[in-house]
Amino acid sequence: MNTEIYFDNNATTKCDDEVLKEMLPYLKENYGNPSSLYSFSKQVKDKIQKARKNIAQLINANENEIIFTSCASESNVSAIMNAINNNPTKKHIITTKMEHTSIIETMKYLETKGYEITYLSVDEKGRISLKELQKAIQKENTALIAIMMANNEIGNIYPIKEIGKIARQNNILFHCDVVQAIGKIKINVKNMNIDTLSLSGHKIHAPKGIGVLFVKNEINFTPLIFGHQENEKRGGTENVPYIIAMGKAIEIILEDNYKTNKKIQYLRDKIENKIKERIEGSYVYGDLENRLPNTTNVAFEGVKGEEILLVLENYGIYVGTGSACNAKNIEPSHVLTAMGIDLSQSSPIRISLGKYNTEEEVDKFVEILERTVKCLRMRSKKSEKK
Ligand code: PLP
Repeated sequence: MNTEIYFDNNATTKCDDEVLKEMLPYLKENYGNPSSLYSFSKQVKDKIQKARKNIAQLINANENEIIFTSCASESNVSAIMNAINNNPTKKHIITTKMEHTSIIETMKYLETKGYEITYLSVDEKGRISLKELQKAIQKENTALIAIMMANNEIGNIYPIKEIGKIARQNNILFHCDVVQAIGKIKINVKNMNIDTLSLSGHKIHAPKGIGVLFVKNEINFTPLIFGHQENEKRGGTENVPYIIAMGKAIEIILEDNYKTNKKIQYLRDKIENKIKERIEGSYVYGDLENRLPNTTNVAFEGVKGEEILLVLENYGIYVGTGSACNAKNIEPSHVLTAMGIDLSQSSPIRISLGKYNTEEEVDKFVEILERTVKCLRMRSKKSEKK
C-alpha cells in the first residue's frame, strides 16, 4: 500500500496536533461569545487577546493593529479597498504580475471602475526592478503599492525593505501579502515600512478559513465588514476556535525560532541535487539565490507538470503545478507566463516541503519521479512516431 507523501505545503498544510488540541475546547465547553459581559465569555476574550499578542510579537506590531479575518484573500481585498476609500482623489495602484489571484482579480475589478493599475513586469527569474517601481510612481495619484513578500509558485523573496522605503519616501500606502513568508522569513513591519499586511492560518498548520490583517495605527481604516468587533475594524462574531488555533500556530513558530527551516531547506536542496544528478533536461525556475527554503519549481524537457502530477498521485505523492483548474479548463500559471516561460512543450511541478517531511520521503519521491519522467517521455515519443 502507498503511504502518503505530501509535498504541496504552499497550497495548504496539515493542521498541527497541538493546534487542534488547543482549539477543540472552544468548539465544545468554552463556547461563549467574546462580546458577552459575563465571566464565562471573559476567558474566551482573553484567549483571543493572547492570539493577537503572539501575532503582534512575530511581526513586531502592536496588539491593537491585528485584525482577525476569514482568510488572507479577505485581508488582501480589505487592504486594497481601504487604500482607495481613504485616498479618493488618487486613481493609480502599483502591483506586480506575480501576486496571488485575490490581488490580481481585485485590480482587474478596479480597472473596470476607472483605476489605472501598473503591473510591474518580471525578468526570466521572476525578479522585479526597483527602478521600474520608482518610474511607475505617479506623484499625487498613486494610492497604493501592493507587493508580496514571497511568491507561492517559485518561492522568490522580494526586496520588501527597499520597497517599503520607496513607498514611505513618496507618501504612498504599502500593502504586503506575507502568506508564504510567515515562519520562513523574519518580518518586522516597522523597519520594513509596511502599512497593511495579510496572512493566512492554513499555510502554517492552523485550519483553513482564518486570516489576519495588520493595519498600522497611524493610517485611517475603513472596514470591509462593519460591526463593533475587532475594534470596529472587522464586523462579525469572531471565529473563536480558529483564532485560537492561529494563535497557537504562531506560538509554535515563535518557539521554533526558524530552526525547522534549516531541516526543510536541507531536504529541498537534496531533492534538487538528486533531480539534477539523475534526470537529464531538468530546470529549476525562480531566483535561486533569493528563495523560500521550502520551495522548488522544476520542469522536465518534453513533459507537462499536470501529467507528472497525475502519475505521482497514483503513488500517493502530492505535488503542485502553477496551473489553476476551473470547471472548464486548465489555465496556465500567470506567474510562469509573466516570466516569459514557454509552457507549450513542458511545464513545471511545484514541490513545497513542510515540517512533517522526512529524508525517506525525499529518497522515495526522487526514485518514483525519475521513473515517471522517463515513462512520460517514452510515451510521447511513441505517440510522435504514430
Ligand atoms: N496570498 C498568497 C501568496 C497565497 O499563496 C494564498 C493562498 O494560496 C493567499 C494569499 C490566499 O490565502 P487564503 O486561502 O487564506 O485566502
